[in-house]
Amino acid sequence: MAKDRTDVVIVGAGLAGLHAADALLAEGATVRVLEARDRVGGRVVSETVDGSIIELGGRWIGDGQTEVMALAKRFGRSWYEPYSDGRTSVWFGNEAHAGAAADPEIVAAVRQIDALADTVNIETPWASPDADKLDQETLQTYLERHFDDPVVQFLRFELSGFLPEPWDVSLLHALFYLKSNHGFAGILGLDGIRHDAYMVEGGTYSLAEMLAKEVGDVIRLSAPVSQIEWSSDNVTVRGAFGAVEGRAAIVSIPPVLAGRIDYEPAMPHDRDYLTQRAPIRGKMSFAMLFDTPVWRDEGLNGFGNDERLVIWGPGGANPPGLLQGLVSIPESRRLAAFSQSARRDTLVSHASEIFGLRLPEPRYYSDIHWAAERYSRGCNSYLTPGVWIAHGHAYRSPVGPIYWAGAEYAAEWVGQMEGALETGRQAAERILVQCLNRQS
Ligand SMILES: Cc1cc2nc3c(=O)[nH]c(=O)nc-3n(C[C@H](O)[C@H](O)[C@H](O)COP(=O)(O)OP(=O)(O)OC[C@H]3O[C@@H](n4cnc5c(N)ncnc54)[C@H](O)[C@@H]3O)c2cc1C
Repeated sequence: MAKDRTDVVIVGAGLAGLHAADALLAEGATVRVLEARDRVGGRVVSETVDGSIIELGGRWIGDGQTEVMALAKRFGRSWYEPYSDGRTSVWFGNEAHAGAAADPEIVAAVRQIDALADTVNIETPWASPDADKLDQETLQTYLERHFDDPVVQFLRFELSGFLPEPWDVSLLHALFYLKSNHGFAGILGLDGIRHDAYMVEGGTYSLAEMLAKEVGDVIRLSAPVSQIEWSSDNVTVRGAFGAVEGRAAIVSIPPVLAGRIDYEPAMPHDRDYLTQRAPIRGKMSFAMLFDTPVWRDEGLNGFGNDERLVIWGPGGANPPGLLQGLVSIPESRRLAAFSQSARRDTLVSHASEIFGLRLPEPRYYSDIHWAAERYSRGCNSYLTPGVWIAHGHAYRSPVGPIYWAGAEYAAEWVGQMEGALETGRQAAERILVQCLNRQS
């Protein structure tokens, strides 16, 4: 087997891994990036249809997301607000709903949740006041204890846009996630512009591609890592591709996937426990392209949702007839058994119901079931009850010369592209000082 030697071996060429590689190269370190897929970008991806970029992974950004905006600027890209002229179609429990902002009970509940989230320390959630109590219950039990049923149902529906089903997740983790993403009210847009407000011109996948181009031929595609042998100052990273030796490694993949790598010596028990209980949840994302945006003729802006899916017409330079969306976790599970044409027909029919009109057959349709993606297994990870308290201290700590990066390890903007970029840069900075003896 060919063995090659470098300063830092990076596992994964998603935004975190690429950003780490870029930061290390800028400081004169040598790197190898090993990527399992035959493309870079991981959870950001797009397709090109008739010259238009159609995104199917992470894409929304918001004010305060400085890393992703700096990256876009570096590559000459700006960002745009989606098309919003007209009405949004929100359905809840088979009835039209005016949205969270219009219901004082829901607004009060959101504020109450945010006040509790404010008590969480996002750097060290396990050291927050009452962390024990908060980590012993699920988001669902908390919602049921504090709010009336219709409010619980609506909050569940909104929260499951970015968290898993609420009975799966620790309340402490849910509060951490909300605070890390600048609050539930901010996510819903109750205090002005929503946090997910803009999309990047040309798509976020183009940012990953351009960053990969800068990082250059140190990226090896189709190179899934299966084993990392390590000592205090050395790593040997192996897979069917061969072996790469380095002074340190950055593992920039979701925790549950990181737990499937065979480490020699084995990971300490607290790190292993964490990766057993940091599942990733998986939704289906889809895009459908119509000849014309027929919904606009009815005064609709293309945004809509019900318990099964959320859809939007991105506008900008995209074809006006483009609709994109995400399917709820239960509906994604159900549709996973369908053929692609049956999924298309079902989602066109759901979208028709949301808009209250009959959409024609789209001239293009595509979807990705992220849970089924071998090298992602979902969109966003979370921690189950009890994990932050028992082993949270080990979550972001390196093990020997192995450092962790990726959206799930971020303190601020956890689960987002912004968080991924931030943790990639941080891991690179720590390695430069701690493993490569550079001055900070
Ligand atoms: C459908 C969807 C919608 C989303 N919406 C948004 C949004 O609107 N806004 C937002 O900010 N974020 C969003 N996200 C989340 C965002 O895309 C991710 O948080 C971010 O891209 C993660 O980057 P990462 O580098 O941490 O991980 P990843 O992108 O997962 O990168 C990890 C890389 O490692 C590779 N890999 C995995 N296992 C191995 C192995 N054993 N060996 C080698 N390589 C391996 C993978 O192929 C992948 O390329 C969304 C995600 C999805 C899927």
